[in-house]
Amino acid sequence: MATATPYSAPLDNEKFLYKLVIQLLIFCQGSHKLLEPHLLAIGAKLRSGANSHELLSELQAVSKTLLHISKQAKQDVSAGEDDGPVSQNNYLLERLDELLSDAEVPLRFQQQTSLLKQRVRANLSEDSYKKVIDSAITLLLNIKDYSASEQKGIDVFLGDLSEKLDELGQDVETAGQANRALIDDREIMNTEIHRQVGSLKDSTKAADELDMLKDQTAEHLDRLLERLLEHKQIEDERQRDAQEKIELMTQKLQELETETETLRVKLKIEHDKALNDSLTGLPNRLAYNNRAEMELKRWKRYKAPLALIIWDIDFFKRINDTYGHKSGDKTLALVAQLLLNNCRETDFVARYGGEEFVMLMPNTSALQALEMAENTRKMIQSCGFNSNGENVNLTISCGISEFKEGDTHDDVFVRADQALYQSKQGGRNRCTVFEP
Ligand code: GH3
Ligand code: MG
Ligand code: MG
Repeated sequence: MATATPYSAPLDNEKFLYKLVIQLLIFCQGSHKLLEPHLLAIGAKLRSGANSHELLSELQAVSKTLLHISKQAKQDVSAGEDDGPVSQNNYLLERLDELLSDAEVPLRFQQQTSLLKQRVRANLSEDSYKKVIDSAITLLLNIKDYSASEQKGIDVFLGDLSEKLDELGQDVETAGQANRALIDDREIMNTEIHRQVGSLKDSTKAADELDMLKDQTAEHLDRLLERLLEHKQIEDERQRDAQEKIELMTQKLQELETETETLRVKLKIEHDKALNDSLTGLPNRLAYNNRAEMELKRWKRYKAPLALIIWDIDFFKRINDTYGHKSGDKTLALVAQLLLNNCRETDFVARYGGEEFVMLMPNTSALQALEMAENTRKMIQSCGFNSNGENVNLTISCGISEFKEGDTHDDVFVRADQALYQSKQGGRNRCTVFEP
C-alpha cells in the first residue's frame, strides 16, 4: 500500500482546484463502475503529491467518461420511453401468466383459469388489459374463499364425526349399565329363590299334616313361579332393548365408515391434485421438492451417484406466438411424455414451471445422465410437432449436474441452471454438464 505523502498546495488557484477535485472524488465514489478506475488513479496521484499538470490527463479522462455515461443514460431513457406502458403491461401479463400457471387451482376453477390464461396471452388493448387484471384478481379471491370453505367443510365433518363417536361411547355406556342392572336383578332373584326354598324346607319340617304341607308347598311354588315369570319378562324386555341398541350402534358405525371412506377418497384426490400438473400429467414443483428431499437423504446415506437435469424448451415463446397457446400447451404435453418415456422408471420427471422440466436420476453420474439426455434431445428434435398439418421444429436444451460431497440441493440446482444457461448461450438444442 502506498504511504500517503502530506500534501501542500503550491498556489491559491491550485489550492481551490485541489479542493474541488477532492470534493468531486468523494462525491463520485461508488456512483458508477466506469468512473472507479479514474477516481482511484486521481486519489493515488493526490496522495503522492502530484501537481495540477500531472492531474490534468486523469481529469480529462474523467470528463470523457462522464460524457459517455450521460449519453448512455439518455439512450436508456429513450429506449425505455419507446415501449413504456406497453412493455410494462407485457411484463405484468407475463408475471400474471406465471402466477396462474403456478397456482394450485381447484378442479371447479380450472376451466375459468385456462380461459383467463388465454385472455392474458392474447394481445390486449389498454382497456381489456384492465378487465383481465380485474378478472384475475376476482378469480384468485374466489379460489381463496373456496379453499377456505372446503377447509371449513372438513372441519364440520370432523366435528360431526367426533359427536357421533361421543354418542356411540354413551350407547356403549348405557348398554353396560343395562347389563349390570340385569346381573343385579338375577342376584335378587337368586336370594328370593333361596329364601323361598329355605322357608319351604322349614314348613316341611314343621308340617303336621299332609294337606297343610301340600297347601304350603303349592303356595311357595306359586310364588317362585311368579318370581321366575317376572324375571323372565324383565330379561326379555332388556334383551329386546339391547338388540335394538346393537342394531342402532351397528347402523351408526356403518354410516361413520361410509363417511370416513368418502372423506379419505376426497382427501386423496385433493392430495393427488396438489402434487400433479393438470396440463402435462407430470408431478409438479411441490412434488419435485418432496422427492428431491427424499433422494438427497438417500444419496447422503448410500452415496450412490445422483444426477439432476434441468430441461428448457428452446424458443417456446415463439411457438406460442406463431401457432397459438393451444399448440403451445400441446407441445408441453408432448415434451412431457417424451421426457417420461425416455428415462428409467426409477428416475423422476416433473414440470418445474412454464416450459421447464426437472429430472432426478438416482444411481446415475453426470456423464451417464449426459448420454441419456443426448438421446432424448435428439429424439425431441427428430419428432418436432405438427400444427394444422405444418411440421414445426422443436428443440430442447438442458443443464446437468451431479451431487457432490457437502452439496445442498440448491447448490446442485444452481450448477445445473448455469449449465443450462451455457447450453442456451452455445446456440440451444444442446446438453451441457456443469464444469467449474
Ligand atoms: P429460450 O430458448 O431462451 O428458453 O426462450 P423461450 O422463448 O423458450 O423462453 P421464455 O422464458 O422467453 O418464454 C417462455 C414462454 O413460455 C413464455 C410463457 O408465456 C410460456 N408459457 C409458460 N407457461 C405456459 C403454459 O402453460 N402454456 C403455454 N402455451 N405457454 C406457457
Ligand atoms: Mg424458461
Ligand atoms: Mg425456453
